[in-house]
Amino acid sequence: MFGVTLAGGAGRMRAPKMTQNISGNVVTALKRANRVMIVTGAGISAESGIPTFRGADGLWRNFKPEELATPQAFQRQPHTVWEWYDWRRGLCAQAQPNPAHRVVAAMERFYHHFLLVTQNVDGLHARAGSRRMVEAHGSVWRGQCLQCGATLPLEVTPLKELPPRHEGCGGMLRPAVVWFGESYEPAVLQQMFAAAEEAQLVLVVGTSGGVSLPMDLVTQARQGGATIIEINSERSAVSRLAHERLEGKAGEILPELWHCAQLAYLVDEVRARAEQKGGRLLVGIAGPPGAGKSRLAKALAAELGPHVLVAMDGFHFNNARLEALGLRGRKGAPETFDRLAFELAVRAMRLAQEPVRLPIYSRETHEPVPEAFMAGQTTPFVIIEGNYLLHWPEVRDALDMRIYLDCDPALARKNLIARHQRGGATEEEAIRKFEQNDRLNRETIQATRGAAELQIWRDAAGWTVTRSDRQG
Ligand SMILES: [Zn+2]
Repeated sequence: MFGVTLAGGAGRMRAPKMTQNISGNVVTALKRANRVMIVTGAGISAESGIPTFRGADGLWRNFKPEELATPQAFQRQPHTVWEWYDWRRGLCAQAQPNPAHRVVAAMERFYHHFLLVTQNVDGLHARAGSRRMVEAHGSVWRGQCLQCGATLPLEVTPLKELPPRHEGCGGMLRPAVVWFGESYEPAVLQQMFAAAEEAQLVLVVGTSGGVSLPMDLVTQARQGGATIIEINSERSAVSRLAHERLEGKAGEILPELWHCAQLAYLVDEVRARAEQKGGRLLVGIAGPPGAGKSRLAKALAAELGPHVLVAMDGFHFNNARLEALGLRGRKGAPETFDRLAFELAVRAMRLAQEPVRLPIYSRETHEPVPEAFMAGQTTPFVIIEGNYLLHWPEVRDALDMRIYLDCDPALARKNLIARHQRGGATEEEAIRKFEQNDRLNRETIQATRGAAELQIWRDAAGWTVTRSDRQG
């Protein structure tokens, strides 16, 4: 793909499907906060097809959950209780984390102080990549030894033996979950309430508030001055404590919210850097093929307003192409961007394509370009993107802001193969092209990564910035 796009014409960018208007307040809260707590309940897992185990949904052999999820029931009929859990474990194993789980995992990369408190025992958050997490009600994927107290992973389903036993001491295991009438671990309680107390922002996702824990945490956080945002398909006990409510599916709202918040954060970073540089900026976006550099460049340009020049991927960059576009050798370049900046972008892109070391000097002034670029030109922002931008010192040094966009390799592979297929390649050809390209590029490109002052990770949850250290 090749193109030179002015921001005004960038409307073709694929935007996430809008489910509702997310208010600027919510986006600002996510962008600014640095101490964040997320509380999730059954609603987030219901979107992955896991029943809530309350009401009619949760019936198993005509038992109500309250009849099985108690220490007394386990004492009376451990085999039956374990059968019920093994059935539930089977349902959990078949279910997949949904986009809401993935965004929650992505948030953990962004916020320095972060805690996820989940009431769910299904393990879906862990499978989506969450680590800074408290499973307040335990997990069906662990057992606790009644004899020695050890907690053990129970990863195989169905279980070979019911009830399962601890090989070490021979004791019977119980599910490592919190049952009706049992209390939370004191250390866990302390961790959750400490996070609530210092939180600037709390997202409450898919919890009914039927259990007192989310209400207590939210009340504590609110007293400490936190902004409370609820995401739920219906009103809940938490609703009256929420500053903002987003009604609908978490799997639709969270990705959209995260996209908006991350883009807003990036735009702030670019503007702040531009201010340091006297109001103009040359931004370079490098990263492995398939990471979506041009998509990011266009999205930034669209947010930065008019007079942004975006020079994209140099793969098909050549003079004939430029002339066909009327962009070179023509007197009087388009007025919406300045010619010198464009030249710089072109040269940088050519450098990125051809392993030839060319110092970047202005044709007009014979000065190194950054100075020339700063001197009285009219385009405030130029964004160029290409795999190797940071590889050549001349290009790297000419950039005012260096962004490295890294990507989940499986996603990059999928994107690139789809791109080759759109270009007319069969699936087999597309895979072969991808593999050649990947071998050649990945190592060199990864080596340039450290040259960027801003790094972004892209995966199924969208873009997540690796944040610079800041007070917060
Ligand atoms: Zn034991």
